[in-house]
Amino acid sequence: MVESNEHVKTLIIGSGPAGYTAGIYAGRANLYPVMYQGMQPGGQLTITTEVENFPGYPEGTEGPAMMEDLKKQAERYGTDVRWGEIVEADFSKRPFICKTDAGKIIEAETVIIATGASAQWLGLPSEKEFNGGGVSACATCDGFFYRGKDVAVVGGGDTACEEASYLANICNKVYMIVRRDELRASKAMQDRVKKNPKIEILWNHNTKEIVGTSMGFNKSVNGAILVNNKTNEEKRINIDGFFVAIGHTPNSGIFKGQLDMDEVGYIQTIPGSTRTNIPGVFAAGDVQDKIFRQAITAAGSGCMAAIEAERFLGEHE
Ligand SMILES: Cc1cc2nc3c(=O)[nH]c(=O)nc-3n(C[C@H](O)[C@H](O)[C@H](O)COP(=O)(O)OP(=O)(O)OC[C@H]3O[C@@H](n4cnc5c(N)ncnc54)[C@H](O)[C@@H]3O)c2cc1C
Repeated sequence: MVESNEHVKTLIIGSGPAGYTAGIYAGRANLYPVMYQGMQPGGQLTITTEVENFPGYPEGTEGPAMMEDLKKQAERYGTDVRWGEIVEADFSKRPFICKTDAGKIIEAETVIIATGASAQWLGLPSEKEFNGGGVSACATCDGFFYRGKDVAVVGGGDTACEEASYLANICNKVYMIVRRDELRASKAMQDRVKKNPKIEILWNHNTKEIVGTSMGFNKSVNGAILVNNKTNEEKRINIDGFFVAIGHTPNSGIFKGQLDMDEVGYIQTIPGSTRTNIPGVFAAGDVQDKIFRQAITAAGSGCMAAIEAERFLGEHE
């Protein structure tokens, strides 16, 4: 049996901090938001343990518990949180048409895209093994756990240089593992890392393996084995933290060709707002933010998206 189309005022795609915050605000504005949670209900923070920098938790909190709190808060104000993902979107006219993975058609007056971005990884088994226990893709999130210690950052672009500079303020020493004999970063960023006495750049090196101890949930990194890709020589560096900074992939593939994006796929929003090039479609959180990528900035833009959706409906109904 084919289900009949459902008409909603606001469809929220994604259930990370941006999506749930949009749900709280849209619910309280009587937009009766419907949310599809996607493959990762609760978003990226559900795969981390400690979150120490989200305001309101003086002792820190656990990522999954925090996201459960946000979900309850969104549901309390009427957000209809559903399993499933959106697999197709047609923004050519309003109401917009979105299709779920179960084949259901949602007609939405406004859409808030909060589908996040995924870190790119090197693809090493040891990187997976120590993820969250010595391996991280976010220095702002996890650098504090390595204060006074030695760490490594992989990558040669602007993000890697930013991460290395940030970590150099907290840690004892930062190795930058760069696979070429030059950095891809802007000249200013290159100068910043090259001048920093705490940063040592290891040119022409690839990571072979991350090493440490692993007992159940108790994992810690104590080194990395690197290979010089010119000489094939192997060397070990002693580190407590391994930060991968080789890029992120925004989860925006299904909107390609309809929404303005940068070359990587970040959705472009009008500065100071969450509006996209399609009136009535808003983007919030990491899917449109390649600079900050934090839970609080995602939540902040989720709030903006809901307020902008409410105003848009007020003007167009
Ligand atoms: C291991 C780790 C630790 C971190 N620690 C911190 C920290 O301590 N502090 C901090 O501020 N930040 C931290 N971050 C960063 C933070 O998690 C992100 O900035 C934040 O989660 C981004 O929120 P978001 O709502 O934009 O997207 P996400 O949290 O990425 O959520 C995206 C959501 O979209 C859904 N989705 C994707 N595609 C679809 C689709 N087609 N249909 C429906 N749903 C879809 C997913 O299922 C998911 O629910 C960490 C990130 C990681 C990976």
